[in-house]
Amino acid sequence: SDKVMFYADSGCSSHLCTESIGRYLFNIEPVNVQISVAKQGEKLHATKRGSLRVKWNGKPMVLLNVLLCKELPYNLLSVSKMERAGLKIVFEKEKVEVLSSNGLVLRGDLQGNMYTVLLDVVEQHTAAAVSEPDMHRRMGHSSVHPTKELCDVCMKGKQTRTPYVDLPESKKPKRILEVVSSDLKGPLTPATFDSFRYYVTFTCHFSNFTHIYLLRSKDEAFEKFVEYEATVTSRFLTRISRLRVDNGGEYRSEQFQRFCREKGIEMEFNISRNPSQNGKSERLNRTIMSMARCLVMDSPLGKEFWGEAVRTAVYLINRLPTKALPDGKTPAEVWYGRPVDLSNIRVFGCRAYAHVSKEDRKGSLDPVSR
Ligand SMILES: [Zn+2]
Repeated sequence: SDKVMFYADSGCSSHLCTESIGRYLFNIEPVNVQISVAKQGEKLHATKRGSLRVKWNGKPMVLLNVLLCKELPYNLLSVSKMERAGLKIVFEKEKVEVLSSNGLVLRGDLQGNMYTVLLDVVEQHTAAAVSEPDMHRRMGHSSVHPTKELCDVCMKGKQTRTPYVDLPESKKPKRILEVVSSDLKGPLTPATFDSFRYYVTFTCHFSNFTHIYLLRSKDEAFEKFVEYEATVTSRFLTRISRLRVDNGGEYRSEQFQRFCREKGIEMEFNISRNPSQNGKSERLNRTIMSMARCLVMDSPLGKEFWGEAVRTAVYLINRLPTKALPDGKTPAEVWYGRPVDLSNIRVFGCRAYAHVSKEDRKGSLDPVSR
């Protein structure tokens, strides 16, 4: 571990760290966040966000959402952030004390005109540290988590990228679920091992958060939309105002249109193949399919596992920053209202041991895990 000096700063809204301790960050995600540093009056850019394991007086703690900023000359602890976390910060007699309901968390003292805190910065357990190529694979070969190594899966699996077209501010939705778009793809061959042939997606345009459902037949899109509508509207206690779909017959069905009328959802059909109208779902579908292709290629699983692959792709896409959101935010961050934790993500199709209960073991010679 390293002894590292932090300034307790009431001007910044996030904890900030310098490049020199960047190697201690874990759960790192790339960001592009502008920071205004009060005293310098200039804008700085943070390029990464992660967690930092520290100790004060031997007591371990984790600083979450620490922004790494290369231009920054010193490390800053955000006073407002600690206050938002329920801690009490007392500046008194040339000391700063951070208190929780259990007592003293850390103490620093005034040096010059800055309150300084000395922390031991601790290495995250090496077993949990994820190498760059491994993170690239875990995140579905996304270019957001690049690898310097030549990746043959990327070369074989990826299509050219669809250019991103930004909407004018006036056309962007103002609240969650205001606009949802849906798209249905299939039939895909081969069918999945459990005989799914299609998938349908629903994307909230405000958050860019996507739900995906696998279908055995096209007409199941209706019941999946009913399920989606019930889940998301009760989560946010708000309505879907508009549902944007292509001209597919499954959305034209009487039951689909009646359901939308009853829920007060205005249906918008993209009659033309106008890319500016269809851009979002076209782009999303390409991203899903090319990531799913990479996931299957990079796994020991066969093509009949595309169902798991497209669901994993959507899970990952929801956790990757998108140009459609400001400050390098991810759809999941907007949807759940808190930063995402990437530490539980493993490489797709990697061997995961599921414990087989005694009842499920047919004979005593069956393996205990499979
Ligand atoms: Zn790759």
